[in-house]
Amino acid sequence: MQVLVVGAGVVGLAIARQAALSGHDVTVAEITGGIANGVSSRNSEVIHAGLYYPTDTLRAVLCVRGRRMLYEFCASHGVNHRKCGKLVVATNEAELEKVQTIKAQAERNGVEGVEMIGGNAARAMEEELFCIGALWSPETGIIDSHGYMLAMQGDLEDRGGMIAFETPVEEMSHKSSLWHVRFGGSEPGIIPFDAVINAAGLGAQGIAKKIDGYPAGQVPRLVLGKGNYFGFTGKPAFSRLIYPTPIDGGLGVHVTLDLAGRMRFGPDVEWIAEENYTVDPRRADSFYQRIRTYWPRLPDGALVPDYCGIRPKLTGKGEGQADFMIAGPKDHGMPRLVNLFGIESPGLTSSLAIAELVVGYLKD
Ligand SMILES: Cc1cc2nc3c(=O)[nH]c(=O)nc-3n(C[C@H](O)[C@H](O)[C@H](O)COP(=O)(O)OP(=O)(O)OC[C@H]3O[C@@H](n4cnc5c(N)ncnc54)[C@H](O)[C@@H]3O)c2cc1C
Repeated sequence: MQVLVVGAGVVGLAIARQAALSGHDVTVAEITGGIANGVSSRNSEVIHAGLYYPTDTLRAVLCVRGRRMLYEFCASHGVNHRKCGKLVVATNEAELEKVQTIKAQAERNGVEGVEMIGGNAARAMEEELFCIGALWSPETGIIDSHGYMLAMQGDLEDRGGMIAFETPVEEMSHKSSLWHVRFGGSEPGIIPFDAVINAAGLGAQGIAKKIDGYPAGQVPRLVLGKGNYFGFTGKPAFSRLIYPTPIDGGLGVHVTLDLAGRMRFGPDVEWIAEENYTVDPRRADSFYQRIRTYWPRLPDGALVPDYCGIRPKLTGKGEGQADFMIAGPKDHGMPRLVNLFGIESPGLTSSLAIAELVVGYLKD
């Protein structure tokens, strides 16, 4: 089939690669001038183990499967990564209960190797840490996400797939068994495809609304959950990822490490109405406060505004977490069309498993 994938983020690239490996003729349309210019370039680059997500949700299933596939992909394609492990820490009795609940959920999700450890054992691993107990997750890691996306682009192009940059998808309609897709950009026009996959991240709802005849009730609302990061100017204090217990809308301001060993903190959750990518330095106050619950010796003046990312959420403040919404023909009734909505964390980790699922939908 001639398959169009909209969006060259980590999810679109994974789907395009999988479709090309399955023998389809694949084109990716990307509105910007390169791969990974959207949500995929503004995240924590953590390979999540799959601890938190409710049993049998897409996030739980695809994270665990995607994580295993991703480690294999990194090994076979030489993508830089490190299985450094993570500690989810409790700093008081109430948090200890929460951490125990996370452990039980992780076990239900089939996550390997999780164990509760005491405060002393945690401090033996990370001497700067304060906690009264922690969940140790050995399967969590970090990845060079750009290297990962380049490797997928390589596989796609080796199989004859191509990416058309600066090529926005504007609208589409289904006629005579084909999707007629209108593109803008410097060479506008209409091109027919057998199948279309909308993996446009923050743009996915906008595209779905431009699909002629697509049921309006099947386009979920888009909520923007900005996540800000602050960099740390000194020598890193930790060698593993350190997470507090989750907060409304996110996993809490945690220690993230990159492969160069630099340490930063974030992301927090800031509910916004319009996309913007500035980090307000005044948010540092709440970062100091939250980080000092588990790292009391964080020096004054050590945090500097870094970058931010925007989560394409389906629910807002106080509404609980939504699952990924992957709408195929059985959901919306239109043939060979898949729309992906709300692919926030753990979308990077889940990408190869999402791709497997979505390409399977093209058989319907
Ligand atoms: C702050 C933050 C931290 C995160 N941390 C992690 C983490 O540590 N681990 C993890 O597993 N996940 C994490 N995630 C989630 C992960 O980053 C996302 O799930 C993933 O990057 C989504 O990829 P995507 O391909 O769906 O979207 P994107 O990367 O946004 O790709 C969509 C692409 O579509 C293009 N596009 C949009 N409209 C059009 C159009 N009309 N025509 C053509 N192209 C279009 C965009 O330019 C973009 O390139 C985090 C997310 C955030 C925001």
